[in-house]
Amino acid sequence: MSRVAYVNGRYVPHSRACVHIEDRGYQFSDGVYEVCEVRGGHLVDERRHLERLVRSLKELRMDMPMALAPMRVVLRETVARNRVSDGIAYLQVTRGVARRDHAFPPPGTRPSFVVTARSIDRARQETAAEDGVAVVTVPDNRWERVDIKTVSLLPNVMARQAAREQGAREAWFVDSKGMVTEGSSSNAWIVTNDGLVVTRPAERGILKGITRTVVLEIAAAQGLRVEERGFSVDEAKTAKEAFMTAASQIVMPVIAIDGSRIGNGAPGPVARELRARFHKIAEIAS
Ligand code: PMP
Repeated sequence: MSRVAYVNGRYVPHSRACVHIEDRGYQFSDGVYEVCEVRGGHLVDERRHLERLVRSLKELRMDMPMALAPMRVVLRETVARNRVSDGIAYLQVTRGVARRDHAFPPPGTRPSFVVTARSIDRARQETAAEDGVAVVTVPDNRWERVDIKTVSLLPNVMARQAAREQGAREAWFVDSKGMVTEGSSSNAWIVTNDGLVVTRPAERGILKGITRTVVLEIAAAQGLRVEERGFSVDEAKTAKEAFMTAASQIVMPVIAIDGSRIGNGAPGPVARELRARFHKIAEIAS
């Protein structure tokens, strides 16, 4: 089936979808994005993703490309036109097209708005979750505003490539104090030997993941003891369990960090249970 993309007001064949060479996203990474899971053809946690988009835009003093109601229509239409049942919807907003100049373009420059959607092989994802995945650690060399979901992802690209070259699925960033911040496109978690679920607070050094927010709710509802605090690489390596969260992966058990086996080297019960419960708590859009 041929794919379709939404680009600045039009649905166009994916293979011919393009933006101008002086788009500020292309030239300066001057843009933000969101990735939303699609399940059974429906957007998961759309409300929270759009709230975070509004926040990202505001932090960068960028305009909304359109109001939220038509944006929701475009998202649904793109998912439908691509016949995505299980997959992801991607949306990106940039500060628009203008003659190259670092400072903001003239007032009235229209933001660029692109939406794509694609299927994900759910069976493969489930197999990965049943087997668990490996992560490696890399120094966190990003700017301080990682709370903004910007398309400026070069450190994340380099980190993920390093992981791939070492046969791992994800790279966990580590700050100058040896504390894990987050993954290149996921949040990082551990379960300590006395059953405490630990993830770094969202105030500093990480993106406040939507999946993270929902998983915190699920953990609380399950009566698990949760602590939002930093954890070191050493603590993670001796933890009972480790896992990561992201809209595209839900809860993905981690069974090795830098080659050190976590727990007994298999996905742990806490991560498995949180994964199993996720879609009972997440908001599924109509
Ligand atoms: N951290 C980073 C750096 C990410 O790119 C992502 C994925 N967008 C996440 C965390 C997880 O966020 P979410 O659960 O909203 O997908």
